[in-house]
Amino acid sequence: MALAVTHVLVVIIILELFRYYVFEKDKFPRYLVVIGGIAGLVPDVDIPLGWFLSLVSGTTVYFHGLFTHSIFFVLLFLALAFIRHYQDDQKWAKIFAVIAVGWFFHLVLDCFYGGFSSTETKLFLWPLTIMPSFCPSWNVYLFAPHIDAILLVVWLIHEEIHGYIKKYV
Ligand SMILES: [Zn+2]
Repeated sequence: MALAVTHVLVVIIILELFRYYVFEKDKFPRYLVVIGGIAGLVPDVDIPLGWFLSLVSGTTVYFHGLFTHSIFFVLLFLALAFIRHYQDDQKWAKIFAVIAVGWFFHLVLDCFYGGFSSTETKLFLWPLTIMPSFCPSWNVYLFAPHIDAILLVVWLIHEEIHGYIKKYV
């Protein structure tokens, strides 16, 4: 599985590219990029949730990858986006759409990275109990901390070069 910085930054970069090259900027406000980036990390909420439930129950509760790593949630947010779109609520249609995008790329990255232990069963198709066989086994997860660090540094340099870091002027 990929680590936090990669999950957030990959979605931010993809949405930023779409914002720049596909949509008009005023039709795609910057907060959508932020929401999408955060949504890119949300499926891993089952990790701290497991810690909390372990603390409360006194036994080890671990269900990372069981439910939140399902394409079901992507389809759910996509459906909500379409519903809001046809109800002419474009603001929420876009919010649900970027959440679906962030969630989807979390699953893509985890699938691509691999490295799940037997207790980290990724049920990408939950509630169906079919185990996915389409994820490559390239062991990219071994380099996850390195990729995280490189991506963060490159992104920071990019932000600085383009003058996006303004607080310290
Ligand atoms: Zn994950």
